[in-house]
Amino acid sequence: MRVTAYAAPAAGQPLAKTTIERRDVGANDVLIDIQYAGICHSDIHTVNGDWGPQPFPVVPGHEIVGVVAEVGSDVTRHQVGDRVGVGCMVNSCGECVNCRNGDEQYCLDGMVGTYAVTDRDGTTTQGGYSTHVVVDADYVLSVPDGLDPAAAAPLLCAGITTYAPLRHWNAGPGKLVAVVGLGGLGHMAVKIAHALGAEVTVLSQSLKKQEDGLRLGADEYFATSDPETFEQLAGRFDLIVNTVSAAIDVNAYLRLLAVDGTLVNVGAPADPLPVHAMSLIGGRRSFAGSMIGGIALTQEMLDFCAEHGLGAEVEVIAADQVNEAYERVLASDVRYRFVIDTSTID
Ligand code: NAP
Ligand code: ZN
Repeated sequence: MRVTAYAAPAAGQPLAKTTIERRDVGANDVLIDIQYAGICHSDIHTVNGDWGPQPFPVVPGHEIVGVVAEVGSDVTRHQVGDRVGVGCMVNSCGECVNCRNGDEQYCLDGMVGTYAVTDRDGTTTQGGYSTHVVVDADYVLSVPDGLDPAAAAPLLCAGITTYAPLRHWNAGPGKLVAVVGLGGLGHMAVKIAHALGAEVTVLSQSLKKQEDGLRLGADEYFATSDPETFEQLAGRFDLIVNTVSAAIDVNAYLRLLAVDGTLVNVGAPADPLPVHAMSLIGGRRSFAGSMIGGIALTQEMLDFCAEHGLGAEVEVIAADQVNEAYERVLASDVRYRFVIDTSTID
């Protein structure tokens, strides 16, 4: 079927309305009538070429919420009318050790991203800035009724990308967790870490968003532009989640870890992040990375967010405002996630 979408025609070019082809609904597929699509900084990295050449035109969008419009004959876990979500991943081999362990995002055969990659059937995936999408039912999440659909969309990437490392490194009561960067991922990290019972500190470029940070669940808030911050917080944190989209001096942040602490990078800047051995040696510290999360963990995260009343703070925009929204994200002027109302696309 032909559907309307917003696509980047080439690297660094503004997105424009177009039509794309969606595959027929196969036996294990779900056709989703998309309602909301969040704007992740990864969409911007991708279309700007930060991560290398892309198969343009690219329809970004991997924070998708909508309603099931049709299901294939073999689908049992979703029904027409259900509210569902799709995140960053729409396929994987299902057989390798990582897939079998529920870490489909680390599929040894290569997980299939929601857009701009070759799917297992040889077609190129196209994302959620669109009216409809067809996705294998195994990669479609149930969005609990208690969640507002616009506020739920960013959970499909920003939510799981922060929930996964917070759970993996046991953020909870008695743990001191710092979140670097209060953007889309950062604000979800603050909410989730607080809900898990950890003591949360925000490390932001300035104090401009301090009031918001404390309202979202942070206990403390510091400006990284103030050198005093790095003196005061030296050796303090059990876990630091770095969500910054640009290369920062990770050595300065590693020194804020307690002995055995971990700095986990979820930000994916184009430039390398050089680490001095001494930053790790001088405290038995770890520097780690984490990419989204498996399907079962994503469902657990959605259920956790529904139970704790957590959604993203969103600014809902019409599709023709997407290029302006990109500029604002690049200027760290997002509070805290832009979400496209996809009913404005047609
Ligand atoms: P975002 O909304 O733009 O937030 C990034 C925040 O980083 C900004 O709001 C800003 O916070 C801070 N920041 C930006 N530029 C900075 C600079 N030059 N120096 C210091 N701080 C800076 O982006 P996002 O959507 O949360 O995504 C963040 C990063 O995570 C991106 O690189 C994205 O590609 C990546 N990502 C990774 C995964 C994964 O699976 N690992 C998943 C999704 C996204 P303050 O104003 O508070 O300083
Ligand atoms: Zn994302």
